[in-house]
Amino acid sequence: MPSLISLIVPFYNEGDGVDLFAQTIMPVLAAIPETEWEILCIDDGSRDDTLKRLIALSEQHNQFRIVELSRNFGKEAAMTAGLDTATGAAVIVIDADLQDPPELIPDMIDAWRNGAEVVLGRRVDRSSDSAAKRLTASWFYSLHNSLSKIKIPSNVGDFRLMDRCVVDALQQLPERQRFMKGLYAWVGFRTVTLDYVRAARHVGETKFSGLALWNFALEGLTSFSTLPIRIWTYVGTIGALFALLYGLFIVVRTLLLGNSVPGYASLFFAVTFFGSIQIISIGMLGEYIGRIYVETKQRPVYLIRKIYPINKNIS
Ligand code: UDP
Ligand code: MG
Repeated sequence: MPSLISLIVPFYNEGDGVDLFAQTIMPVLAAIPETEWEILCIDDGSRDDTLKRLIALSEQHNQFRIVELSRNFGKEAAMTAGLDTATGAAVIVIDADLQDPPELIPDMIDAWRNGAEVVLGRRVDRSSDSAAKRLTASWFYSLHNSLSKIKIPSNVGDFRLMDRCVVDALQQLPERQRFMKGLYAWVGFRTVTLDYVRAARHVGETKFSGLALWNFALEGLTSFSTLPIRIWTYVGTIGALFALLYGLFIVVRTLLLGNSVPGYASLFFAVTFFGSIQIISIGMLGEYIGRIYVETKQRPVYLIRKIYPINKNIS
């Protein structure tokens, strides 16, 4: 019996790429034996004609199902929406811009049939990404993995296959701020990694600016490690120890040499230096308190406006 597999594709302002995506992906999927496909396109509040084109596709091909979110919630939320609506025995998450090669999908299915529960695509060559993006990405991974017990494999994006049991596990994680790379790593499961070369974007441009990536990195770090707030206890202790020793030194020096007014420079340094350390540590606390605030509000991760085709029931 063929197995039903869900392809999850987040779309945000990808109007020009919709038809190319469908033309490229459909023959690849059709050629994989013993499979039936449900192609879940998540329209993440696009402001161009992405939705219109996706709906047109769903009218032509019955594998397509379009989930329209009520606004732009971000890629992480769009993927979550896809995972929640998918009905397949396995799901594959793939970018709409064809930067993840569809040719890898048959190999992913093979690995899954051979018992893998997670099949990761690993980028062996990221020359299509800018040098700055590659550098900051590699800094992020090494910083994250040295701080957190949950290790994120480097050069692995969201392009992956997951068995139904993994999807069910992900759905049990209640957090609202969904740093998916961390969540994927947290759930574990039997994993196989396949290498691929990351292509350049065919049409359109990247949706992640430098600032968005910085926020994303901060979210990743604070989601999976509390070291950034804990470390200030040690920094504070060491600082206090030094201050104490220095105080002692001044007392001894005054006793031996009398009071020789200078000391303005060291005082000025101490005040400004420790002042800034305090501000940094308050910022760290703020980062975590901010996440507690967001989590306690218990808002849904995304809102769906409509699912197309409308008459098809979602189960
Ligand atoms: N995307 C999304 N919501 C967003 C931003 C991006 O659904 O707010 C989708 C986008 O349409 C694409 C995928 O996420 O399918 C990856 O985005 P992009 O290619 O811009 O990221 P990059 O490849 O540059 O990391
Ligand atoms: Mg891309």
